[in-house]
Amino acid sequence: MITFLSGGTGTPKLVRGMRRHVPDHEISVVVNTAEDLWMSGNFLSPDIDTLIYLFSGLLNTTSWWGQEGDTFTTHDELTRLDSGEYVAIGDRDRAIHILRGELLRRGMNLTRATAHLCASLKVRAQVLPMTNTQVETIIMTGGREIHFQEYWVRHRGTLPVDEVKRRWETPPAATPEVLSAINSAEAVIIGPSNPITSILPILECGGVVEALESVPVVAVSPFIGDAPVSGPAAALMRARGFAPDSAATRDLYARFLDFFVQDTRDTVGVPGATRMDTLMNREGVDESLAAGILSLVRGT
Ligand code: GDP
Repeated sequence: MITFLSGGTGTPKLVRGMRRHVPDHEISVVVNTAEDLWMSGNFLSPDIDTLIYLFSGLLNTTSWWGQEGDTFTTHDELTRLDSGEYVAIGDRDRAIHILRGELLRRGMNLTRATAHLCASLKVRAQVLPMTNTQVETIIMTGGREIHFQEYWVRHRGTLPVDEVKRRWETPPAATPEVLSAINSAEAVIIGPSNPITSILPILECGGVVEALESVPVVAVSPFIGDAPVSGPAAALMRARGFAPDSAATRDLYARFLDFFVQDTRDTVGVPGATRMDTLMNREGVDESLAAGILSLVRGT
């Protein structure tokens, strides 16, 4: 079993490459849920959906969210009605959110609701929410607290970030399914995801760090030089007092990390790191990066 810790863009790209080497039923993905939220009466779990759509062949791999070829009739109408729905939710994507919301309202936990959706879409990999407790990443900006989605989607990441916080009613604990996916893994791969909004929320779930200490762990940097490949990771790293680079990313994972992979073009040197082409915007790079990581952990 190969187990990933994932957000919704960088790591899923690597998962796509890994599927060329490892069958889906031997892949588990522990997914960040701190960007989840209720919207228009339904439950959005953006990173979970990206993984479900990837494994079911439905994913829009240009944007890395939503379903390929989806339509936006309901969203356009809700916008016309001034509903405040600031995330562009596709019609077929919304069907998933409606069903997930309904399952949660009936008392199912997020792990079971996700398993239900995976079974309906014939997903053979294990897609595991990091916890069943609702966790939210909150951005402090100009004395206000806003949900991460509001910062990134509604305001397009343009507001200054004073602080990044996590909000929950009870401290989140990793689910038994997550701990078992880590404990039984040949290796755990932390793909090139945003450390602050995608990976730290997973590491903050009770039991995860201790479990990672007893299995081989590889992390891939989402930074090349002093900038992320995409997204708001630089501003968020700075807001937490870290440099936006590979060295700081490596330090965040130091307690349990066995191998660190950074891009061949990265000008920030990290002692002991392995250099590989990590820029998965060209045909075949995801597959060769996945192969390189497998050789690293297998010592071949
Ligand atoms: P989110 O949930 O959409 O924020 O997605 P993730 O956290 O999974 O991924 C976002 C991170 O992926 C960003 O910090 C990017 O720098 C990184 N990223 C995206 N594509 C690539 C890539 O091809 N190579 C590398 N090394 N990083 C990438």
